[in-house]
Amino acid sequence: MKQYHIETYGCEMNKAESAAMEATLREHGWKRVSEQDADLVILNTCTVRTTAENRAWNRISQLSARKKERAFALAVVGCMAEQHKGAIQKKAPGVDYVLGTFQKQSFGLMLDLVAKGEKIDVLEETPTYVFGASYHEPGAFRSFVPIMHGCNNFCSYCIVPYVRGREISRNPSNILKEIDQLEDLGVREITLLGQNVNSYRWEEQGHVLDFPGLLKLIARHLHDRQSSDAHGRIGWIRFLTSHPKDLSDSLIDTIAEDPIFCRHIHLPVQSGSNSVLARMNRKYTREYYLSLVDRLKAAMPDLTLSTDILVGFPGETDDDAEQTLDLMRQVRFAYSFMYHFNARGGTPAASMPDKVPDKTKKQRLARVIALQKEITSALMRERLGQTDEVLIEGVSRRSKKEVLARTARDEMVVLPAAQSRIGQFARVKLVSISGNTFRGEEV
Ligand code: SF4
Repeated sequence: MKQYHIETYGCEMNKAESAAMEATLREHGWKRVSEQDADLVILNTCTVRTTAENRAWNRISQLSARKKERAFALAVVGCMAEQHKGAIQKKAPGVDYVLGTFQKQSFGLMLDLVAKGEKIDVLEETPTYVFGASYHEPGAFRSFVPIMHGCNNFCSYCIVPYVRGREISRNPSNILKEIDQLEDLGVREITLLGQNVNSYRWEEQGHVLDFPGLLKLIARHLHDRQSSDAHGRIGWIRFLTSHPKDLSDSLIDTIAEDPIFCRHIHLPVQSGSNSVLARMNRKYTREYYLSLVDRLKAAMPDLTLSTDILVGFPGETDDDAEQTLDLMRQVRFAYSFMYHFNARGGTPAASMPDKVPDKTKKQRLARVIALQKEITSALMRERLGQTDEVLIEGVSRRSKKEVLARTARDEMVVLPAAQSRIGQFARVKLVSISGNTFRGEEV
């Protein structure tokens, strides 16, 4: 049997696309093994940050060197393959196949060629992104369901619109078909995925389906399909990522009306300063963001928010940095992905003046991280003693007698329970805190 190994870098979309590639690999009779035994090693790459790109280049060099010891095919796919196709072929002759984001439909063909030991120079490109049929990992009870792809926003620091192309939405019939398959496979929770899910738009016979409309369609479909007991079926729906400027009141009402939508939204703010937000081309202000948070919390008092924060953007002053800290204190994010600015070649921000010195960027990042830790701890302490529903996800890393679970608010809970409970919903009381995880007891 042919054997493969796949490594995935970067965002949730990349993880979903790796799952789709693995489905194709299985269909073609390939088996997943460790890198040392693989006939084909696939690197699904990311180019959003310099660090992710450097890691992939290092891995390409390592694997290319290993080809002197044993024969295997090396394929580089994903965003870095899209962005640096020519450079990879030139700088890394050990790479046998380079498959960009818009050549994914040739993945099956590539597998046939690998099996025959053949190469091709040019793979067909599609003008638009092609969605896979399924993104499910065997045995998983949480699954991504991509609903749109690409981005039209062109934030000035971001490479995504250049490597993922313009926004394209997935046919709702195909989304529902995949959700039915997932439910039949035992999936309990789905995450609707896209670079900017809020701008989902499907037009058919003069009728436009927007993101709130899609959410209602999916919820109605699941409620009709399920018995009165939702447990044992898809019980929770999440979505990722939301651009604040496109999060409408109609979307807030839709989520608030139906508890099938998890009470957690990832809402990247990036900065608390209007002048920085304008240079980032985020198309909203600090005041707009804060009023959006107020509206969300008024509609769903139990909602948690997480965010992305980018410090040290060109021209960011001490006062701008203070405004970001102030916004964090006002919103009280449950957690944040925090990073400092590193120019991505080819983006407008790369050539902006007034670069912030490295030392200052690091100091500002340290303050943001310290504040987030404080906020997270305070929010967690406020939750102690409360009971909530969790979905049990897996075995705890510390003990085989404990399981790891997650609330709808995206909080992690460890509790004593048998492994047979994995994939089930349970009610737990949050009794203590260990790091960023609650310890819970089933009630
Ligand atoms: S919304 Fe902005 S940060 Fe997000 S993918 Fe699009 S351009 Fe990048």
